[in-house]
Amino acid sequence: MTLAPEREEIHPIGSYQPAPAVTRDDQVRSLLRSVIDTGMEFKGREQIYGERLAPEAIRDRVLDEFPETGTALPELIEEFKAKLLPLCKNEASPQFLGFGDTGDDPASLAGGLLSMFTQQNLINQSFDSPSATFAEIAVLRWTRDLLGLANPAVSDVTSVWQAGGVVTTGGTMSNTIAMMLARENKIPGSMQTGITDPSKLAVVVPRGIGHYSVRSSLAWIGCGSAVIEVDTDGFRYDLDALRRALEAHQGRIMAVVAYAGDSRAHTVEDLHAVHDAVRSADPSIWLHADACWGFAATFSPATKHLVDGIELYDSITVDPHKVMAVPYAVSAVLTREVGALRAISSHSDLIMQEDFAFGQVTPFVGSKPWSSLKLWMMMRAHGRAGLAAIMDRRMAVMRGFVAELDARPAFVRLHDPDLTAQAFLWIPPDEDHTMPDIERINAVNTEIHKRLLADGSWHLHQFTIPDPGRFERGRLLRPLRFMSINRRIERRHVVGVLDFVESLGRQVVADPNFTKER
Ligand SMILES: *Cc1c(COP(=O)(O)O)cnc(C)c1O
Repeated sequence: MTLAPEREEIHPIGSYQPAPAVTRDDQVRSLLRSVIDTGMEFKGREQIYGERLAPEAIRDRVLDEFPETGTALPELIEEFKAKLLPLCKNEASPQFLGFGDTGDDPASLAGGLLSMFTQQNLINQSFDSPSATFAEIAVLRWTRDLLGLANPAVSDVTSVWQAGGVVTTGGTMSNTIAMMLARENKIPGSMQTGITDPSKLAVVVPRGIGHYSVRSSLAWIGCGSAVIEVDTDGFRYDLDALRRALEAHQGRIMAVVAYAGDSRAHTVEDLHAVHDAVRSADPSIWLHADACWGFAATFSPATKHLVDGIELYDSITVDPHKVMAVPYAVSAVLTREVGALRAISSHSDLIMQEDFAFGQVTPFVGSKPWSSLKLWMMMRAHGRAGLAAIMDRRMAVMRGFVAELDARPAFVRLHDPDLTAQAFLWIPPDEDHTMPDIERINAVNTEIHKRLLADGSWHLHQFTIPDPGRFERGRLLRPLRFMSINRRIERRHVVGVLDFVESLGRQVVADPNFTKER
């Protein structure tokens, strides 16, 4: 590649040969086209993995010395396809049924490529991202609109502080920013003075179903880990317990977090009831709704009612890379009061002091990629009607899964699904369903999941969750979890994965080694 000379007096321009730009560009173009073909083949694959190896075997294959000489790009791409790609997880495979980060929406893939090529930097607007900044504000406004948050008139959008939110790298970052807002709300000025009274910065979360990002974010932003866990009932706050906690910790609580779709069962909180309980106990408490999953409920008239009341929360987190088939990483945090982010803005003479510089309102971030173009493309490509159809299909797939589970006596469902997740257990045939051995059931399901992952042909997720009352209320269970987000799921996949789990379950209980280990 020919570089522009840094100092003309040292490298006179005339001493450089002109680069054979056309040929080179043509070669690059055809190579990049072949890369798209490789990517499409990968995503279209039925299987999750092309090859499955233990971590040490992958380590020994991949960790090598940095070579002295370069490798021609075509050769390098072939090496990637042989060495790395077969081991990559294809979450767009219809056999990957544990999560839904498929990243396979065609419009969002186009947006991802175009944002990479255009290399805009949303830290500034004027010279750095003249149009991208406004496309990002448009996406934030569409998102607010779906959630029921009011937008200012376009002519009143005179700075980034009227965008009503920021795009971030994920739900974890969005929740962290929401906790910063809560902290600043509780102790105004702590951005300047530091935290003077950490005893006031406790955060209420529902026990056993929360996402680790809230606890972690409190540690990251200097609040300590003052999490108050409140008992749940059917994966929602036990409202009496919530009221008692608000009373017992009066003055100490900076925020209450409600899950509009928790990360295990996707159960949506009774958002109105939690809002009312909190506001009547102490109206100064920051109310945060984590809608990383629940945002999807807003897509369809059939599910929208589930998140009624979310527009009353001070901040809301959404995670499109989980629910909109958008490639990583796109999340956003929205605020009920459009200008709320001003409280945690920062200034530097390295960021343009201009009205539309997102660098001023995005904590922890300097150079800021145009990740929202993926979402701009996806939302425009589908429109409101398209999003509704996507969500309606997921709910239909979920009903099909539930019917299939219920038709098989070996399975127990832990809840009725609000959205796109179902947690369930395989019960060994010799268990007494009225007096089951929970420890054994947990061990068997843990072993099933271990074998499922090692095999790699199907994927379900696993976690611990308090028993909502199926066997012994509050006892920790280790269920498997199916998710109905992947657009390629058909009935044969539902039948296939359950057949496989049943056969693994029978293998586990018949395995003398497993029985001995226990
Ligand atoms: C996944 C998830 C997060 C974190 O999102 P990332 O994009 O993984 O950072 C936060 N909250 C909930 C409820 C989640 O499910």
